[in-house]
Amino acid sequence: MDILIKNVLLNGKKTDVSIKDCVISEIGSGSKDDKVIDGSGKAVIPSFVNMHTHSAMTLFRGYADDMALIPWLEEKIWPLESKLDEKLVYKGSKLACLEMIKSGTTSFVDMYWHVKGTAKAVSEMGLRGYLSGAAIDLFDADKHEQQVEKCLQEIKSVRSFGSDKIVPVVGAHAIYTVSGDLLKSMKEIADKNNLMYHIHISETKGEVDECIKKNGVTPVKYLDNLGVLGENFIGAHGVWLDEEEIQLLGQRGGCVVHNPVSNMKLAVGSVLDYKGLISNSVNVCLGSDGCASNNNLDMFEEMKVAALLQKSHYNDPRRLTSREVFEMATVNGYKALGLKGGKIEEGFIADLCLVDLSEVMMIPNHNLVSNFVYSANGSVVECVICGGDVLMENRVVKDEDKIIEEAVGAAEEIVGDRS
Ligand SMILES: [Zn+2]
Repeated sequence: MDILIKNVLLNGKKTDVSIKDCVISEIGSGSKDDKVIDGSGKAVIPSFVNMHTHSAMTLFRGYADDMALIPWLEEKIWPLESKLDEKLVYKGSKLACLEMIKSGTTSFVDMYWHVKGTAKAVSEMGLRGYLSGAAIDLFDADKHEQQVEKCLQEIKSVRSFGSDKIVPVVGAHAIYTVSGDLLKSMKEIADKNNLMYHIHISETKGEVDECIKKNGVTPVKYLDNLGVLGENFIGAHGVWLDEEEIQLLGQRGGCVVHNPVSNMKLAVGSVLDYKGLISNSVNVCLGSDGCASNNNLDMFEEMKVAALLQKSHYNDPRRLTSREVFEMATVNGYKALGLKGGKIEEGFIADLCLVDLSEVMMIPNHNLVSNFVYSANGSVVECVICGGDVLMENRVVKDEDKIIEEAVGAAEEIVGDRS
């Protein structure tokens, strides 16, 4: 459907924005025959790209907090995950999609179990999902073939939705759960199918120390030796990278995804070297990680925490400005996904949101981007459009009550009714 957004604030001026065939076709005018959305009192901004999450973990929100990483995983998260099936993942992912839409995110990169459940949720909710499972062989050579087969099946099932908004990705969990052989096989699958390669990397010091002990090199160097780095590489976390690793990432391409809330909550003990990464031309994007370690998917909050963490850690308030972190959450993500998005300009994809400027936390409006990053949260988003499809208008998303009811049921089914 063609859309005309009337009287909306864009770069400090009121204008009209026209959407035709999923793309921003014109700024400044449009046809009266289009669906008209009143933009008065609102600003139009590109919608966010959440570059690293595990969407169905919404079901675990608030279930296990304030714990050390290993007991948190072993005692709480893994036992729950063993109970998941495609239907539960579908319901958890629907809740995640609802939350993302309500806080202005229209694209996300997901790594999780029962990927078909997430793909179904994305197909019903209308946003863009870049979806993978998580290959894990725990260094058991007997599991190699089965993991390769599983990955190929996942690609097939994501593709079976036949939508350019539902895109398969190859996911390998991490270097401490996946053997070198399997990491290489997954890379071959990704390259052969022209897909991205998603992995957790350098999240903790323990991971780095163990890699050096076992392989004689740091994690990124290890991946480079295996031939895994490249333009299609998505490395989540990267908080313990040394200079050589940062240079390698810059030379090979791909992106690093910063997940500041998760890093702080799990106390990983280090901070992303943002300046080092960008001075080596690494594309730095932003992600929420899963809801068990965040506990929400709000990219406004993620931007604020990212900026504050850099300033606080490096004792320099000029480090990571509001403009830079806004780009990290928008244009850098679109670039990583190979989409012409992240800007409200003619010819860019119509992935955007309208923000209500009458919300208390948006007043006064001295600097809109500052307000987005340091003051606002997802509740200021009023309307969301993805590829020309209206996903939310007047803060109403289709079937919201049903999605919430089903997610509550699914969460109770997993942890048991504790009311
Ligand atoms: Zn993660």
